[in-house]
Parts: sequence; structure tokens; C-alpha cells
Amino acid sequence: MGEVQLREVEVARLLLEAARYLGETLEPRRVYERFREILGEAIPHDGVVVSSFDPGERLIRCDYAWVDGELLDVAIFPPLHLSAKGGMQSEVIRTGRPLLTNDVAARVQDSGTYYDVDASGTMRKVPDEGPPKPQAAMMLPVKHEGRVVGVVQLMSEHVAYRQDQLELAEGIVAQLGAAVRNARLHEERLQLEASAAAARATALERERAAQVLEAVGDGIFFVDEAGTIRFWNRAAEAITQLRRDSVQDRAVTELGPDWAALPATVPAAEGDERPRPVALPVEADGRELWLSFVAVQTHDGIVYAFRDVTVERQLEESRHEIIATVSHELRTPLTAVLGAASTLLRSDIDLASDDRQQLLEMIATQATRLSQVTESILLAGRIDRDEVSIETTRIHVDTIVRETVGALEANLPSSVRVEEQLEAPGFALGDANRLQQVLINLLDNAVKYSPGGERILVRTSQAADQVRIEVVDEGTGIAQTDHERVFEKFYRSDSSRRLAPSGTGLGLYICRGLLERMGGRISVSSRPGAGSTFIVEMPAAP
Ligand code: ADP
Repeated sequence: MGEVQLREVEVARLLLEAARYLGETLEPRRVYERFREILGEAIPHDGVVVSSFDPGERLIRCDYAWVDGELLDVAIFPPLHLSAKGGMQSEVIRTGRPLLTNDVAARVQDSGTYYDVDASGTMRKVPDEGPPKPQAAMMLPVKHEGRVVGVVQLMSEHVAYRQDQLELAEGIVAQLGAAVRNARLHEERLQLEASAAAARATALERERAAQVLEAVGDGIFFVDEAGTIRFWNRAAEAITQLRRDSVQDRAVTELGPDWAALPATVPAAEGDERPRPVALPVEADGRELWLSFVAVQTHDGIVYAFRDVTVERQLEESRHEIIATVSHELRTPLTAVLGAASTLLRSDIDLASDDRQQLLEMIATQATRLSQVTESILLAGRIDRDEVSIETTRIHVDTIVRETVGALEANLPSSVRVEEQLEAPGFALGDANRLQQVLINLLDNAVKYSPGGERILVRTSQAADQVRIEVVDEGTGIAQTDHERVFEKFYRSDSSRRLAPSGTGLGLYICRGLLERMGGRISVSSRPGAGSTFIVEMPAAP
């Protein structure tokens, strides 16, 4: 275009094009390229550098650099401090006014930092490392809301720049500023959207993990580094009966000493280590539970998982008890039988016939005891499998009681007196033999658990639909908490074990099983030290 002034129509066309074309893309780099294309012929150039200015840091950074047809990596340009005087870019930023020079060499003699870059990206500090290549340069401020936010530099080694070109460039740069801002905003929005999406994904993942933790059957809780419970899942609530709102955000030590001791008693696995379960008795909400814990160390606390093993523990304990009871019950008579038999078999001892008789009687008694124990075990098993044969006939309860007491009395210690108060003239429905078995068990217990050898009373009574038998003793009595347990299979209270070492804990279980199958019931009323009354109810015969 040479010296010819830009025609107004041309200027208008270029500005319009700039407005349209620059606004079309939302990628900052493409905006700069389009800007350069638009400059094209109207403002010949062999270098275009766009810098932005950060007023906070007072730093000028290169955003785009194009030299002799090559796009340069902006990272090679060190950020420049805004200089207080001198420096072409700094001057534009300071004054907010464009600058045009057709003698760059003269300008760079002034104070300030100048760099000259070639198409290969080699940078020279000028004028120290030689004279600048460009002859002409224009520098235009990029403004936003009246403030300078950047500088556009156009350079030419071949032509001189004119004022009208500067004005055109100013117009295009104004468009450029808006387009770059738009593009930047767009990029920021994309970034925000991406981080919002990432945050949503993390939140979703957390939510899913929390849902899983809620759904699992194991109790799970998290104790942070400060010892505060930060998570307590539904299973933990169900097992301990401690509600989440009463536990969460409280110190774990507040749950009681068993919980406070967890860090010491349950080793927390770290890294890939396999957590080792530890079963412990812990008190929760006033109840004693056996819980099996595992603990895993995380970067900000410890995750505990636990299962309720109370039932397993009780089963295990009762299994031990059963084995101990049964073995004891069998071993005592067996030892006696073996001892007596081997004495009888010795050829070196000449036994008197009385002694011989006594030993034989002992064998008979102990063998009877043995068969009773095994019978009880077998009968309890048959009751469990519902395999006991029970007759349902009209039975005269008073007669059965009288006969049973009569038969037993001969074998009772002399200190025991059994009184009868028989006031049930009518009939009941049931099995005479089974009822007799029940009575023997009850009378047996009444004697066994009355160490002083007191009075035992058996009384009967009759109502419209039932016949009632009560066996009353003045013995040790039974604690309220054991009133139901005494009817459990193999249950023997600790005090009974001491008082009457022989016993299987099956007698009352069998009584209840037999009576229920006859349509009857058994219960107990007792206080420790005040004796016991076992009450049997049978349906009355029509
Ligand atoms: P066993 O007598 O073989 O232990 P039982 O089933 O007959 O088994 O009784 C279970 C438990 O109930 C006994 O161990 C004892 O603790 C308690 N018990 C039963 N009868 C009496 C009683 N008359 N007085 C006090 N305790 C009793």
C-alpha cells in the first residue's frame, strides 16, 4: 500500500470484518491468528507479539508471538516487570496511549529492557547483544473498562508505519481485546464446568460408597485423628442400639471404657496389611455384647468394622458347658463302676460276702444312674425332634401323685418329709407315665435343692378347665432372672452346681417338653432363700 493513505471505506471494511471474524472463535490462540490475518496487507508486519499485563503483580507476560512466519512458544519469553520509566511496552501500559516509532534502534538506547527474537526463537537482549532488527514498531494498548490489560506490538524490518495505520490497528486491537476476553471467559467457564463435573462425580462416588456402607450388615464407624466419631452406619446402630445422632461428632471415649480402649486392643492395619479380627466384650447402651472388630488406618483416622458375635459366643460357651456337664455326669458313675468291678476281679484279695454284696450294689446303683443320664440325653433329643410318643387318656391326677410320692419316699433321706394336699377329685387329659416322669423330676429337684432337708409339699387343685399340681419346697430358691432359664436345655445355675454337683440340666427341659405335648404347662414361682413352687397345669378331662 506504500504511502497511499488507507481509504475510509477500506478501514470500515476491515473493522467490520475484525468484529465479525474475531468473535467467531472462542479459542484465544485462534483469535490471535485471525487478528494477524486481518492486519494482512493493510499493516505489513514481520512480527506480532501480544502481551498481557497483570496490574496486581505488575508483570508483563507474553501470550502470543509470531515472527517471520513462525509461531513461537511463549514460554521462552520471561515475564517482564513493568518499568517505571522507559521501555516501550511499559510506556504504553503506563500512559494507556499507543506508540509508533520508525527508528527502533534509537528507541532502545533509552532505559528499559528490550528483546529481539528471530523466527527460530533465539532471543537477544538489545542493544547489548547487537542492534534490533525491526526498523518500525507500533505498540497498542489493550484496554478493559478503561484499564490497560495488555499490549499488542507490530514490527516491521522493511516498512515505516504511518499514523493512519496506527489508528486502524487501534480499532482492530479494540475488537481483539473483546474477542480474547470472550475466549478467556469461555475457557474459564469450560474449566469451571469440568471441575464442577469432577466434583459432582466425586460427590456421587462418595454417596455411592456411603450407600454401600449403609447397606452392609457389618457395623462401620470412622474415628478421626482427634478421636471424634465421624461416621456411624445403620448396622452399627442396629447392633449397638446407639443411634447415629447420639454418637456422631462425639469423642469415642464418651461411649465408655471398652470403646475408649479400642485403639490399644484392636491393631489398625496399615497399607496392604490384612486387618486381624479381635473379638471383645463391650458395653453398649447398658448391654454386654461380644463384637468382633477389625480396624484399618487411613490418612486421617481409623475405620472400624464390627460384627455381633454375642450369639455365637453364647453358643460356644454353652457347648463347652454341655460337654463339661455331660462328661462329668458320665465320668462320676463310670469311675465308681470301674473301681468296684476291678476290686471284685482281684484274685489277691479275699472279699467278705458283705463287701462283695456292697460292691455289686454300688455297680447296680451307678449303672442305673448312668442309664438315667443317657436316657435323659436321648429323651431330650427325641423331644427336640418331636419323636416322643404321648398318650392322651383320662388320668386321675391325685392317684398318680399319691403313687409317685409313695414309690419315691422309700429312697428319700430321713430328714425329708413330703406332705400331700390332694384336692383334685376330677380327671385330667394326658399320659400317666409321662406325668409320673415329670413329678419324679420335680420331687427330685425339690430334695436336691433343699440342703437343710426340709418339708416338701405336693398339692393339687381343680378348676373348670384344668387340674393343677404344685410342688413346693423350702430350699435355695431361684433368682428372678433364672425363672425362664431353668427350663432351657442343659441350664444349671452356678450355685446349683456347687450345691448338687450331679445333674445334667435336662430335667426341667424334659418336664416342659412332655407337658407341652400333653397340652399342659409348667412354670415356677420362687425367690432366692424362700423356696420354690413349681406349678404344673393339665387340661381337665371333660
Ligand atoms: P439339674 O437338676 O440336672 O441341674 P434341671 O433341669 O432339673 O437340671 O434343673 C435346672 C436348674 O434349675 C438346676 O440346676 C437348678 O439351678 C434349678 N432348679 C431346679 N429345681 C430347683 C428347685 N426346686 N430349687 C432351686 N433350684 C432349682
